[in-house]
Amino acid sequence: MNLQFHYRCSLCNQEYTTEQVQYTCPADGGNLDVILDYENIRRATSPTKITAGNEPSLWRYLSLLPVADPGGLGTPLRAAGWTPLFSPPLLKAALGLENLWIKDESRNPTASFKDRASAVVVARARQIGAEVVVTASTGNAGAALAGMSAAVGQKAIIFAPRTAPPAKVAQLLVFNAQVLLVDGSYDDAFDLTIQASQEFGWYCRNTGYNPITAEGKKTAAFEIWEQVVFTAGKYTRPLSVFVSVGDGNIISGIHKGFKDLFALGWLESMPRIFGVQAEGSAAIANAFHAGHETIIPVSANTLADSISVDLPRDGVRAVRAAKQTGGTYVLVSDQEILGAIAALGKAGIFAEPAGATSYAGLIKAVEQGLVQPDDPVVVINTGSGLKDVRAAMQAVREAPVIEPTLAAVKRVIK
Ligand SMILES: *Cc1c(COP(=O)(O)O)cnc(C)c1O
Ligand SMILES: [Zn+2]
Repeated sequence: MNLQFHYRCSLCNQEYTTEQVQYTCPADGGNLDVILDYENIRRATSPTKITAGNEPSLWRYLSLLPVADPGGLGTPLRAAGWTPLFSPPLLKAALGLENLWIKDESRNPTASFKDRASAVVVARARQIGAEVVVTASTGNAGAALAGMSAAVGQKAIIFAPRTAPPAKVAQLLVFNAQVLLVDGSYDDAFDLTIQASQEFGWYCRNTGYNPITAEGKKTAAFEIWEQVVFTAGKYTRPLSVFVSVGDGNIISGIHKGFKDLFALGWLESMPRIFGVQAEGSAAIANAFHAGHETIIPVSANTLADSISVDLPRDGVRAVRAAKQTGGTYVLVSDQEILGAIAALGKAGIFAEPAGATSYAGLIKAVEQGLVQPDDPVVVINTGSGLKDVRAAMQAVREAPVIEPTLAAVKRVIK
């Protein structure tokens, strides 16, 4: 573990100790970067040591995380991360890419990428002795916090918009969190959570507010490093990583993970990071393409509920993730997202709309020549299709209902 860390504001560069500040910059509300002691880490561990580790979860990177070991052995808290990397021949052929991997985050304990952030936030909560953790969520962050908390007996309260998909609400309730369904948007729930956490002294996990979430999410970059860069050897072209973007915290976290590795001298060149947003929720892509860092809110409207955000809470760092790595932002329509669900499904991978958005973005990037056939590419499926079955059914044709006769079968099987 690396407990010697402090914060630096991503907007004004002011540095703070963990005693001074817990969430965002008091001067300008900027997101805080966690600054690790790289010297100390280099002394304590090495790529050889880490890759020889035998913990099949994100906890294999504990030496690069700003939290103490949370315990919880034998529970789902120890199963977050270390997700499989698939290389489906069908998809490689469809896109004409020689080296394509899908990192399947639906294999996390609560079936989305959010387990990475929630596991590490729960570790922090236990370390600081927080009685209650709270989060606003469109569903997945809450399910992850509820699940990771339940694993170790931590009390959790979740604020979700009442329109959240039923499967996600069911997860919250089954994981025994206290659930408050807000009659409003995710953004309304977000603001209310911050007020409530101040009023009641709860520890707040909110995405793009609590600086620890990005530290959990960066572990996906460590895995891509270990599973692709380290294991599969070197490529002549830089690695490209495709990420779907709502609040911008996953893409910022992945950027941070690669920056950590680069600063440690363990990564030769930075991968290019591509953000993919839904056309109806494109505040970060808009800023990127306008060439500035001012995030102008939109009135979000997309079927990909996990990336439907009016005002992204980690927008500035999300713009930089693409800009500083030679990536870009790609926009896709809801129709293209549904098409990507079907395409991934044909390869045996079941994604929720926001999970398939990254793949829809890759299809577009290939069409536009942003990615070359010999570019190694990793696409992250951020969440399981079981999270939103209604959307999944829109991506496919209905099954015929038939009489139980062979004649009826013959009419359908042509
Ligand atoms: C949260 C989430 C995203 C987007 O992450 P941000 O940090 O909000 O950009 C993408 N896909 C899924 C499935 C998610 O749950
Ligand atoms: Zn600041």
